[in-house]
Amino acid sequence: MKKKICLLYGGKSAEHQVSLQTAKAVIQALDHEKYEVHPIFITTEGAWVKGPLLNGPVEDVKQLEFHSGETVAPTALSTSLSEADSGYDVVFPLLHGPNGEDGTVQGLLELLNLPYVGNGVLASAAGMDKVIMKNIFAQAGLEQVKYVSFIRSAWQDAPEKCYEEVETVTGYPCFVKPANLGSSVGISKCTNRAELEAAFAEAFNFDRKIIVEEGVIAREIEIGVLGNDDPKCSVAGEIVPKTDFYDYKAKYQDGDTALVIPAEVSQTVYEKLSAAAITAFKALDCAGLVRADFFVTKEERIIINEVNTMPGFTPFSMFPLLWKHSGLEYPQLIEKLVELAIEKHKEKQ
Ligand code: ADP
Ligand code: MG
Ligand code: MG
Repeated sequence: MKKKICLLYGGKSAEHQVSLQTAKAVIQALDHEKYEVHPIFITTEGAWVKGPLLNGPVEDVKQLEFHSGETVAPTALSTSLSEADSGYDVVFPLLHGPNGEDGTVQGLLELLNLPYVGNGVLASAAGMDKVIMKNIFAQAGLEQVKYVSFIRSAWQDAPEKCYEEVETVTGYPCFVKPANLGSSVGISKCTNRAELEAAFAEAFNFDRKIIVEEGVIAREIEIGVLGNDDPKCSVAGEIVPKTDFYDYKAKYQDGDTALVIPAEVSQTVYEKLSAAAITAFKALDCAGLVRADFFVTKEERIIINEVNTMPGFTPFSMFPLLWKHSGLEYPQLIEKLVELAIEKHKEKQ
């Protein structure tokens, strides 16, 4: 019998369009002899729309935007198949950012007792909050840049005090980031007090909590991790942004950021990177997949920047490309993730 796979894509986040591209590519890559694809499109307003069963690849992402289909309450997910069906064999949340990658959807799927691809509630939530993530990494002994965090009300009460603290802890240049986003949204690099003030205001537009980090001059190197209890690392890849830093525009609009895979690093550096990636995976209690992002300085200091619990997943994104260069093609990668999801679910029963 075919496995019923529910794809959840779209969503309210800045990565809505990226998610659609991912869904199209995943549908294209799935073996339709083995899988029955049940799409659920989440509109930019947050409505969940059930699409028709898909028995083959789609030509255009437009075919995946169901505005007139049956709207389902997220909690109806487990019963949204016809009564004769037992339910989905697996759910694949192809969602990034808040309300997708942050543990909320994962919590819903837990409540519904459905197997799902990727990280659980805890790892997703901790990975979405840069402050919590860094605190956990610090506890695990991973090297990081200096950082300090603030909540909006504290800043409103005493802005000067916050700026002074930044200047003491990180100095300039520093990076100001909303704690709970991705895709470089709301992030600014600051080299003086005036820029710092503007950056605080900007970041607090997106979140009630922000993080300020010491800026480093370093190469940006990433590693894919795949597995559950015994995770494995891919080759390393390097991002070479043409802009000052890897901002939203460079990520999604310019398309001229170079990805160098495998990254040119020595065996020693690769070993340190992969050991740190596994430490990070275990520290957050990850499952399925993670992309671990590092800064590597000229002196070969290995500094972890972040992990992404649902990394970009189009066939041209870093994570799938890292695995392709490690011998796992896109369709096999998807199958592996589905197997890992089912394995994790069985262990919980
Ligand atoms: P996101 O989760 O939105 O990807 P990141 O923390 O990865 O946020 O920051 C986005 C980009 O900003 C990084 O890829 C890097 O180019 C730059 N950047 C972030 N923090 C630092 C830092 N501390 N030093 C130097 N560059 C940084
Ligand atoms: Mg991120
Ligand atoms: Mg990043």
